[in-house]
Amino acid sequence: MRVRVSDVRKWVGREEHLTLLESWPDSLHERLDAATIDEPAQVNVRLRNVSNGLVVEVSGQARVHLTCARCLEPAETGVQFAESQEFREEAGPKDEALAYERFSGDHIVLDTLIADAVALEIPLAPLCSSTCRGLCPQCGANWNQTSCTCQEPADPRWDALKVWNAKNSPRSDQ
Ligand SMILES: [Zn+2]
Ligand SMILES: [Zn+2]
Repeated sequence: MRVRVSDVRKWVGREEHLTLLESWPDSLHERLDAATIDEPAQVNVRLRNVSNGLVVEVSGQARVHLTCARCLEPAETGVQFAESQEFREEAGPKDEALAYERFSGDHIVLDTLIADAVALEIPLAPLCSSTCRGLCPQCGANWNQTSCTCQEPADPRWDALKVWNAKNSPRSDQ
C-alpha cells in the first residue's frame, strides 16, 4: 500500500487526505498468523508537509477472525487503529536510531506503518464472548454448550489450611 507524495511535497504546510481501498499488506497477514482479516482494507491517510519532512497518519477499522482463548471456537473482533510516522527524503538504508523513516521519489510505502498499527490492536487473548465459560480442564467439554460431571479439582492453596485446622482442632478424647 503506498501513497503518491509529489504534490504534498511541493510546499510546507500543504495537506492531503485520501482513502486507500485495496488488499492488506502481506506483512500484516504474516503477523496475524492463523487469524484472518476481512478484505479489502479501507485506510484513511492524512499527509502533512512539515518543515523537515512529511507526516503520514493512517487510521481505520478492521474485522479480524481469530480463535477464542478460552473455548477455542471461532471469535471475531473489530479493531480500530491509528498511527502516525514522519518520513524524510534522504538517501540511505533504514536507520533504527532515527525517529523518522526515510523515503525517496514520488511515493511512500505504508505497508509497515499500517501492519504495525493494526497488529498492535489485536487482542492477545481474544474471547468469543465476554461471558465465555471455556473448556473443562479435565474432560474438555465446552461449557458454553454442555455441562459435565467432572469434580472441581482441589485447590492446593487450601492444603496448608487443612493441616493447620487438623492440628488446632480440639481433641474430642480429652
Ligand atoms: Zn469462547
Ligand atoms: Zn469435565
